[in-house]
Amino acid sequence: EAITNITDQLATGYEDSSESNFVMDIIHQLDAVSTRDSMTGLYNKAYLQKSVETALAEAGEGRAHVYMAMIDIDHFKQVNDRYGHACGDIAIRELASLLQSYVTPSIGESARYGGDEFAVLFHAEDKQQCIQVMERIRREMGEIPFRSEGTEYHVTISYGIDDIAGARDYREAVEWADSRLYIYKRRGRRLQNLHQGTDHD
Ligand code: GH3
Ligand code: MG
Repeated sequence: EAITNITDQLATGYEDSSESNFVMDIIHQLDAVSTRDSMTGLYNKAYLQKSVETALAEAGEGRAHVYMAMIDIDHFKQVNDRYGHACGDIAIRELASLLQSYVTPSIGESARYGGDEFAVLFHAEDKQQCIQVMERIRREMGEIPFRSEGTEYHVTISYGIDDIAGARDYREAVEWADSRLYIYKRRGRRLQNLHQGTDHD
């Protein structure tokens, strides 16, 4: 938050100066530090919160749908326990890279919510399109062959999607999407095809 404020102030002071390249470079680096998760390069939780708050404010002005997905790696503790923490890190980075590839800026923004949990705030208002993107990520993640000391293993994810347009604030939005995620976790970590009728409409 403090870094964001400083970079905003610096950017305002230097945007028109001809000798500002060096300063602008530093500003961009500081901006990345303040908005990105260092391990994956995805947006961080602080950035996600701001984005969700902006989207909710716009939704209040008449936008019909704002979809948000919460994503979590299945049995991730077991991955760490069986294959080691470094293998766990590789799985996290692979998932982040799938999110980067498929959640393009026109579709939405993906963030590392924390640990093995990720979030996508969709700009797309077509729910089927959001589900298609998430299904593709889920399927491809499950197909990646990971290896540790000669053993091949697979890592699956679960996700929940909800329309958060009517949420009061960021916290409630996360709660709604999170409760969808946990429905799918409870039903069995690979039964995602039952995604119809998951929101508040
Ligand atoms: P579930 O299927 O219910 O999601 O079970 P889980 O084991 O994935 O869930 P749990 O929340 O018990 O475990 C998450 C684990 O993720 C615990 C923590 O040690 C691990 N973890 C969090 N951050 C990192 C990280 O950056 N790297 C690695 N390797 N592990 C991490
Ligand atoms: Mg997990």
